[in-house]
Amino acid sequence: MPQVNTWVYDFADGDKSKKDLLGGKGANLAEMSNLGLPVPPGFTITTEACRAYLKHGTEPDGLSDQVSDHLATLEGAMGRRLGDPDDPLLVSVRSGAAFSMPGMMETVLNIGLNDESVVGLARQSEDERFAMDSYRRLLQMFGSTVLDIEGEHFSDALDGAKDDKGVTDDLDLDVDDLRSLIETFKAIIKQHAGIDFPQDPREQMDRAIRAVFDSWNTDRAVLYRRQERIPEDLGTAVNIQAMVFGNRGMTSGSGVCFTRDPASGDQGVYGDYLQNAQGEDVVAGIRNTVSLADMREIDQSSHDELLEIMSTLERHYRDMCDIEFTVEQGKLWMLQTRVGKRTPEAAFRIAVHMVDEGLIDMDEALRRVSGEQLANLMFPRFDAKAAKDLLAVGMNASPGAAVGKAVFDWATAVEWSENGEDVILVRKETTPDDLHGMMVAKGVLTSRGGKTSHAAVVARGMGRTCVCGAEALDVDTRAGEFRVRGGKTIVEGDVISIDGSTGEVFDGEVPVVASHVVRHFEGTEVDHPVVEAVARLMEHADATRRMRVRTNADTADDAARARRFGAEGIGLCRTEHMFLGERRQLVENLIVAEGETGQEAALDELLPLQRQDFLKVFAAMDGLPVTIRLIDPPLHEFLPDITELSVAMAVADVRGHRKKRERKLLAAVQRMHESNPMLGLRGVRLGIVIPGLFTMQARAILEAAAECIRGGGRAEPEIMIPLVASVRELDLVKGRIEEVAREVEAELGQEVPHKIGTMIELPRAALTAGEIAGSAEFFSFGTNDLTQMTWGFSRDDVEASFFSTYLEQGVFPVSPFESLDLDGVGALVRRAVTAGREVNPDLHLGVCGEHGGDPASIHFFDEVGLDYVSCSPFRVPVARLEAGRAALS
Ligand code: ADP
Ligand code: MG
Ligand code: MG
Repeated sequence: MPQVNTWVYDFADGDKSKKDLLGGKGANLAEMSNLGLPVPPGFTITTEACRAYLKHGTEPDGLSDQVSDHLATLEGAMGRRLGDPDDPLLVSVRSGAAFSMPGMMETVLNIGLNDESVVGLARQSEDERFAMDSYRRLLQMFGSTVLDIEGEHFSDALDGAKDDKGVTDDLDLDVDDLRSLIETFKAIIKQHAGIDFPQDPREQMDRAIRAVFDSWNTDRAVLYRRQERIPEDLGTAVNIQAMVFGNRGMTSGSGVCFTRDPASGDQGVYGDYLQNAQGEDVVAGIRNTVSLADMREIDQSSHDELLEIMSTLERHYRDMCDIEFTVEQGKLWMLQTRVGKRTPEAAFRIAVHMVDEGLIDMDEALRRVSGEQLANLMFPRFDAKAAKDLLAVGMNASPGAAVGKAVFDWATAVEWSENGEDVILVRKETTPDDLHGMMVAKGVLTSRGGKTSHAAVVARGMGRTCVCGAEALDVDTRAGEFRVRGGKTIVEGDVISIDGSTGEVFDGEVPVVASHVVRHFEGTEVDHPVVEAVARLMEHADATRRMRVRTNADTADDAARARRFGAEGIGLCRTEHMFLGERRQLVENLIVAEGETGQEAALDELLPLQRQDFLKVFAAMDGLPVTIRLIDPPLHEFLPDITELSVAMAVADVRGHRKKRERKLLAAVQRMHESNPMLGLRGVRLGIVIPGLFTMQARAILEAAAECIRGGGRAEPEIMIPLVASVRELDLVKGRIEEVAREVEAELGQEVPHKIGTMIELPRAALTAGEIAGSAEFFSFGTNDLTQMTWGFSRDDVEASFFSTYLEQGVFPVSPFESLDLDGVGALVRRAVTAGREVNPDLHLGVCGEHGGDPASIHFFDEVGLDYVSCSPFRVPVARLEAGRAALS
């Protein structure tokens, strides 16, 4: 006998660990049944069967027979046969994948009803209206889900029936109205699907199962998975479950509830109940629901039993649960549970509440919150107490709270913002042409596209607030307006507010308040429950983590703020800004100087200024290590623009002016012009070609450190050489810096402890890290450049132009600038760590690219054994939290 797979499991044979096979819904239904909770019996067709079906286009061998066997068992247990004309068993056919995909997949209720069994149901229940109501629901769901008929045909007909009767409530339709609606629905099916509604109950069931399988591949499901990074090939399970009826009059009803408030995290149950309702009625907003407290007035015994079960479930899952239930004539039934989704605030609060209640320990609490959630809590937010006029909800593409005047093209965005106006750029979708407008806008709102759309990718890259895919908006860029479907019209210049953390779009200005959590990190006393939860979890993360967290800070102000946020040093202090502003003149002098003496004179003027800068940074970071990167960008970035300078010279020529200095400058600028500056004369190359530049910087650093130490402070400079590809480059500049160090120590009679190391930001450096480690005391992975150099693309060019296409086509699941590309760039990092430590076991290792503040990347850096991560001040708390979580896994 050929072995046939087990495609079907009874609820009694599953449990919550079998999510992959039975889907989340099926696994949890099984778990609840096994806990002895009142769950209508049923069985689950596995995701494996779905995968086989999707692969071959037909049901796998044995599936149909196994379904028959399990159906027979179910019929036996219920004492009724599916669709029996006298006393029909009815079932629901419910989708349920391993990951919850809300609203993406299909479910059909009341399978088994037909022209005959509806009569049987009416007789058995002694409620003809209920039977008719159930039948019309089946026709509606079967028509739209299984037969792919536009749902509006049915809902329009239903609304029509209510209009004709002059009522607004479904419950006001009587038996005769429903009977005629059933005929209308059948006609709709005949007209749009070209068939009669199938009367055979088993055929109904088989077609519904197939439809659930197929719903895995609907466009919206595919899109949703791509956005949520759910793998494409999992398939969905199908649950067949005996129906229970919340639509059997006012002693029946259906509801949803949470064991805690999923918005605030408050302890205490939370839920909605709707009498005489089936399935999704309760969340569809067709009638006003009541709270659980009011449900108690309606049906105390069901209410009390529900609360008992909620508490059982929460203790069993040791987490907040989200529950669907139905009451049929005073008898409570559980239809679904899962660990509930929650807001970031609720996540932090629930985690610590559960520790206090003895349900979990602090390690587990730390696992249950994330850096993303913390980052979310750190954004300025709309005042929760303010009155708001919600226009639409789109996708939460890039967090933040933005308020501004709606503009519909980039040119207006630029013009208005130059006049000091805050603007929100509104487009159907954005293209690279819109980039300029996105840069000046407070926020970006689109009506199309998901989290990988151009708008979303670019906005996230720039840290700009963005809501995308707000489909209820009809954007007419030419007219300069958008219309909210069935509602208001917003024209150019009207103020709107968008919330990039929730996807909400509001009319008018919603007041923005600073984040409680940021105020807490800044050292302000804040009386808000989320702050206490965050503080406790941060403390635990700090006690747990192995890696240190430093910050990227160029100024004393940034350094001081980062220190308040918990930074334990500076991992990257860029020196570029020390050449800007009024100091440009000095850089120009350096460039036009003739001979070494001229250069030296120019550098001598820069020295005291830089020393002053470093002194301030050392003071802010007193006692903590400070890594200073010597000048990295090409020098012409500090020089006048070549075109402007050429024009000025041409004008001078015509007027017969001499302008000797300018002429020299132009010649220098022309000489230094590069077609690919990113790959040109910069970093260590500059230090080799103009040695005085690096030695001046090294002197400024060491003299500042000496002065700081003499004044009783503690300075630990780490001098970092950028863009090294070969150990020879490092040796050349290192030799000179050491010479400077000896000079400074001799001149000032003060020892200055310091380190000299390098960035690893070129593939060649990573590949020859063993050799470089022989000359370096530390490595800092510059993962931004390393990503650019490994992929061979420049971030500024590619992110705005084709990254959205790459994300959509699945070249990468997330921008490699947001989250480290583990397979490519990560492999280089890993290799360099191993080779470097082999040669130099004391080699100190860190990362200073923005990846140092990205949760997924932090886990990787912990795993390969870096000593610290460094990121922008605002990301420091996120990095502390994630470094703690990484240490747990
Ligand atoms: P979703 O995954 O979209 O929530 P469900 O499979 O949970 O879809 O079903 C949709 C609605 O129908 C839910 O409200 C659910 O509680 C209800 N429902 C599903 N099966 C049954 C059943 N056997 N008896 C009564 N109501 C059911
Ligand atoms: Mg459900
Ligand atoms: Mg770099």
